[in-house]
Amino acid sequence: MDAVNLLGFDLPGLAAYCEQLGEKKFRATQLFRWIHQKGASDFDQMSDLAKSLREKLAGRAVIQGLSVISEHVSADGTIKWLFDVGAGNAVEAVFIPEDDRGTLCVSSQAGCAVGCRFCSTGHQGFSRNLTTAEIVAQLWFAEHNLRQRQSTTERVISNVVMMGMGEPLQNYDQLVPALKTMLDDHGYGLSRRRVTVSTSGVVPMIDRLREDCPVALAVSLHAPTDPLRDQLVPLNKKYPIDELLAACNRYLDKAPRDFITFEYCMLQEVNDSPEQAQQLVKLLKGKVSCKLNLIPFNPFPASGLVRSTNARVQAFAEVLMQAGIVTTVRKTRGDDIDAACGQLAGEVQDRTRAHIRMVRAPVSVAKSP
Ligand code: SAH
Ligand code: SF4
Repeated sequence: MDAVNLLGFDLPGLAAYCEQLGEKKFRATQLFRWIHQKGASDFDQMSDLAKSLREKLAGRAVIQGLSVISEHVSADGTIKWLFDVGAGNAVEAVFIPEDDRGTLCVSSQAGCAVGCRFCSTGHQGFSRNLTTAEIVAQLWFAEHNLRQRQSTTERVISNVVMMGMGEPLQNYDQLVPALKTMLDDHGYGLSRRRVTVSTSGVVPMIDRLREDCPVALAVSLHAPTDPLRDQLVPLNKKYPIDELLAACNRYLDKAPRDFITFEYCMLQEVNDSPEQAQQLVKLLKGKVSCKLNLIPFNPFPASGLVRSTNARVQAFAEVLMQAGIVTTVRKTRGDDIDAACGQLAGEVQDRTRAHIRMVRAPVSVAKSP
């Protein structure tokens, strides 16, 4: 029988597992702290853990991280790791240091089935969901690797954003225990406000997340109207904008922040005109408590799309701000190592032929007047 990977358990899950082995629940807390707070991967290291438990674990269980295929460090300090997840698939995680925080951008799937036009992961198609252990392993590795490099025992990663490869809400069952491990005081102890799930808009799962694990929510909007959003984010055909915004409002009842972050990828002459900014104001103002995060499009080969000029981004932001909507323009980080939003490509054994589909159906957008 395969050994159980303990990285796949949140604390209640680990407690249940320990009970199965005939051990007391509090042992699970000790074990959980060794794994996540100290980065231990070897049961022999766990000096204060009863010998009987260590012996039971040896052979039955492992603490198995992911192997690192490559590491790139950007001039601005951003670090990108490529992790092997087997069968020719690899996923990426990116660490973004800032003065007052350290953010890790984590992947949830090998590839993505949503297939957004402007996203390099989407162009690669979909291979499979990551397991809870594989999601947590990205944080486990990054946190303890960074502590070692910085010769510190203090926490380095203060924020996690589920904005790497994949649509987290299409991998819901594996995602939630991973989020719980991030939040657990005996795990990474991150506050709900500092863990963000970013979604292209899987409406029923937004509702479930509100009940099961309300963390900060970012929604990838990218267009003010359904016809345009249908083309950019194909999931919109299933869950159109009005349903999505209604789900955002329901989410706000339980959210740790009193706003939703809307992400909007700025594509030259596709979704970036002042008229479209006005449409966005009409859509959102007084309807959903929100902030807008404009992301200059990060080009990749074969996208066929162009990044909006700074002037167009500024003009667009101006319209929103004039209307009283808090708007920020995301700084691009890790440009020189292809670690910016939407450039995470990893290696995906596509099972959906997404690439072929997209090349056959190029984006066609009515130019604004
Ligand atoms: N699947 C989730 C999370 C991963 S994508 C989602 O779509 O929200 C994280 C963010 O990067 C999303 O807002 C996405 O729209 C944005 N993004 C994707 N490709 C991009 C690109 N080429 N340039 C800039 N942002 C991009
Ligand atoms: Fe998937 Fe998000 Fe990329 Fe869309 S933007 S293809 S949902 S990872």
